[in-house]
Amino acid sequence: MNFKDYIRVVEDFPQPGISFKDITTLLKNGEAYHQAIEEMRKLVKDLKIDVIAGPEARGFVVGAPLAYALGVGFVPIRKKGKLPYNTIEARYDLEYGKDVLAVHSDAIEKGQNVLIADDLLATGGTIATCVDLVEKLGGNVVGAAFLIELSELQGRNKLPNINVFSLLTY
Ligand code: 5GP
Repeated sequence: MNFKDYIRVVEDFPQPGISFKDITTLLKNGEAYHQAIEEMRKLVKDLKIDVIAGPEARGFVVGAPLAYALGVGFVPIRKKGKLPYNTIEARYDLEYGKDVLAVHSDAIEKGQNVLIADDLLATGGTIATCVDLVEKLGGNVVGAAFLIELSELQGRNKLPNINVFSLLTY
């Protein structure tokens, strides 16, 4: 299946100069969504994974079904102020903008093997922040998996020593 056929590229969203990869056109197609998650599962099948962590909101749409397919748990990483229990936080820069991400302080046990998942790797700021949060909790990041990698932005360089897996590259 050519997954790129299912991704809509929207120019100048959310601001001029950004070429946004809209995955909603893939998500609404049951076969494309299922196959994409299945292909991502194959990319990471040789890793030893205890739990997947993914940032809101599109990281949930990719990370949760991947966790389900692998039979492991899922940990939501959310914007500050959304999680109900004790959290740890980290500030980060986006391709466009700034924010604070948070995770429950008991979400990951020391020594657990964690795969981080998101829809798209751009500058790598979001995922570097997720790595930081997971490592602060004592988790061992075994990899980072994406539906899409924007190779020009060299997000991989922000993730030295992390195995990066991406299904599609632009
Ligand atoms: P980064 O932190 O790597 O610069 O940006 C990645 C984050 O921004 C991801 O969480 C992703 O959801 C969002 N993002 C940035 N650009 C795009 C895009 O073109 N398409 C989609 N679907 N998400 C994007």
